[in-house]
Amino acid sequence: MRTLAQNEVERHMLHCPTVDNLRHWSKTYSAKPHLAGDLQHAESIRDLWRSYGVKTELVCYDVLQNFPARSSLKLLSEDGAIAFEASLKEDEVVEDPTSSPANGLPSFHGFSANGHVTAEIVYANFGTLNDFKLLESKGISVKGKIVLCKYSKVFRGLKVRAAEKFGAAAVLIYSDPQEDGEFTAANGYKPYPDGPARHPTSIQRGSVDFFSIAVGDPTTPGYPSLPGPGTERRDPKGAIPSIPSLPISFADALPLLESLNGRGLSPEDVGGIGTDWRGGLPGVDYCTGPSVVEASVLNHGEYRYSPIYNVIGTIPGRTKEIVMLGNHHDSWCCGAVDPVSGSAAMNEVVRGLGELCSAGWNPFRKLVISSWDNEEYGLVGSTEFAEEHENELTEHCVAYLNVDESTNGGTILGAIGSPLLANALSTVMRLVPSPVHDSTTVYDDWASLKKEYRATAPKPMSLLSPMGTGSDYTAFFHHMGIPSLDLVFNKRGTAVYPYHSNYDSYLWIEKFGDRGFKKHLAMARLWGTLAVRLAGIPLLGFNARDYAATLEKHVKHLHAKKVTSLELTALEDAVAEFAEATASLDELGGGSDLMTVAGTIVSRTQVGVNEINRRYRGVEKSFILNAQEGLPGRPWYKHLIFAPGLWAGYDGVVFPGILESLEDGDIGAANEWAVRIAQRIKKASLVATGQDRQQR
Ligand code: GLU
Ligand code: CA
Ligand code: ZN
Ligand code: ZN
Repeated sequence: MRTLAQNEVERHMLHCPTVDNLRHWSKTYSAKPHLAGDLQHAESIRDLWRSYGVKTELVCYDVLQNFPARSSLKLLSEDGAIAFEASLKEDEVVEDPTSSPANGLPSFHGFSANGHVTAEIVYANFGTLNDFKLLESKGISVKGKIVLCKYSKVFRGLKVRAAEKFGAAAVLIYSDPQEDGEFTAANGYKPYPDGPARHPTSIQRGSVDFFSIAVGDPTTPGYPSLPGPGTERRDPKGAIPSIPSLPISFADALPLLESLNGRGLSPEDVGGIGTDWRGGLPGVDYCTGPSVVEASVLNHGEYRYSPIYNVIGTIPGRTKEIVMLGNHHDSWCCGAVDPVSGSAAMNEVVRGLGELCSAGWNPFRKLVISSWDNEEYGLVGSTEFAEEHENELTEHCVAYLNVDESTNGGTILGAIGSPLLANALSTVMRLVPSPVHDSTTVYDDWASLKKEYRATAPKPMSLLSPMGTGSDYTAFFHHMGIPSLDLVFNKRGTAVYPYHSNYDSYLWIEKFGDRGFKKHLAMARLWGTLAVRLAGIPLLGFNARDYAATLEKHVKHLHAKKVTSLELTALEDAVAEFAEATASLDELGGGSDLMTVAGTIVSRTQVGVNEINRRYRGVEKSFILNAQEGLPGRPWYKHLIFAPGLWAGYDGVVFPGILESLEDGDIGAANEWAVRIAQRIKKASLVATGQDRQQR
């Protein structure tokens, strides 16, 4: 067999995915729900990949999970009679064959506490830490009360965590039309399935684990939940809520909100003029309460250890180095977007890789393709795997590329990740045709949105935002310091995305989310091409100058806070030095300087490709705290530069140690973190220039 040239390999990954196959997988996988632990589903993915010629195995863990058993929500009248009972389920929509409530899970939160609470209701806006602080400062107590709050702004588990901190007894989280942008009934849009607005009974399920503290099985923090009696199990207290919660629709929330009309403070009293405390439902004045009448919330789930099944496919490489791809296969309901839009693309990538192998392709690096189980309860499958293989992955895995959803209805690529990968990503984005226009690329579409933003938005749009958490890259990036990306077509939606609801269905994809499956197609091409680019050739196409630019930008943000006695000089000096070090590394790594001497590729300065790669990888590794250390209050998180916001979760923050100390009003600690981070940046500079080796 002849050897395939790298450009042929990339061309293959660009051209092999088909709309017909993507549509087929979308329809097949979203025909029924696949709750975490669905062995049959995992086996079907394994068998498919094997049929593509890829060596594939199931990897099992036993993890703590709660399964919904009983729940109810009632509003009582003053004499204690039942004034309203919530349906806690979505209406069946005749046009949508998978929307029967029998098909989806009931209204339920993963890792919610069991309990039965009867108490008055207090409305707490989005349930952010600040919302609770504001309520307290205005004399409204949530102690012993049932908190009713809106979805969006921060991860749902952190709403429950904040409510718990302020003494609430239970939490109800509902989806208010306020989060739906222009696509609301108030703007004349019809609800699903007749139009792009949210269906009034749509419920956002999801986990309420405290994922900015730790992820994975909450009973095995930092080590794998291997099946069998040998695995030590710790008390999950502090990692999951101790008060019950339920997700509800706005149809079910309406009577509760109405019971608060005229009670307590108005939105303007709490939040001031132009406040976001006022939501978008008619007939509701969004007063804080407490209500005069009581509500009764029952949540009961069955907690038990239960098996989950990761599907792991492997394409052998010529070296021990690894490029990893990940998506998950579990879902709350039918999940045509989450995760099936990503799983369909993954299948096409695997098929393409299998074809390359049968054509004799033998990549430089090994490719590991993972279809994770149990992402939904807390990134459990990926985290347990990462914890089991921590040493090997830390040593050999050069990059982790995650796609959870190919698209949530948006048409323009949104990416988060390590700045080291920004350049590789943008290069490949230039090769992939746009999912919406005939003559542009994915990159062009992104660039024209950026241009529009520049005219209107205060902050420039960058290709990569900092990694927070919310999907399976978390263990790879935040725990191990493996450069990672998470990709999704998510900007500029064309309808409300029925996230984690029973309407996240094939019909929604066909009608609103991705009519011609072109976004699925663009994602399969982008993901596969990037994977073979990173795995195929010895030189890693990384870029370190973007890292320095990110640090420079965020040191400026710290300055702009104008905190007197915050000492930033050491940090600034370190970042300036890092900018120079990374610029010189990029000169070596840019490729223009490379030549072949006696069969080995070296730069003109005789620095070999292995050494260049080592330096790039070492930059990210320099920022990882050792096994005994971690970020304050969350030792599992080890990246000094990036972390999920402690009280936001989905969004990432830069310099978490400094920011959190400032939020706590502890300047001393903030200054200590600044010094510590400066030292690590200096270390990264030594690595980038190779001086770490020369010094030894
Ligand atoms: N991606 C899921 C969510 O946002 C799971 C995240 C988690 O709980 O760790 O609900
Ligand atoms: Ca674990
Ligand atoms: Zn997902
Ligand atoms: Zn999800």
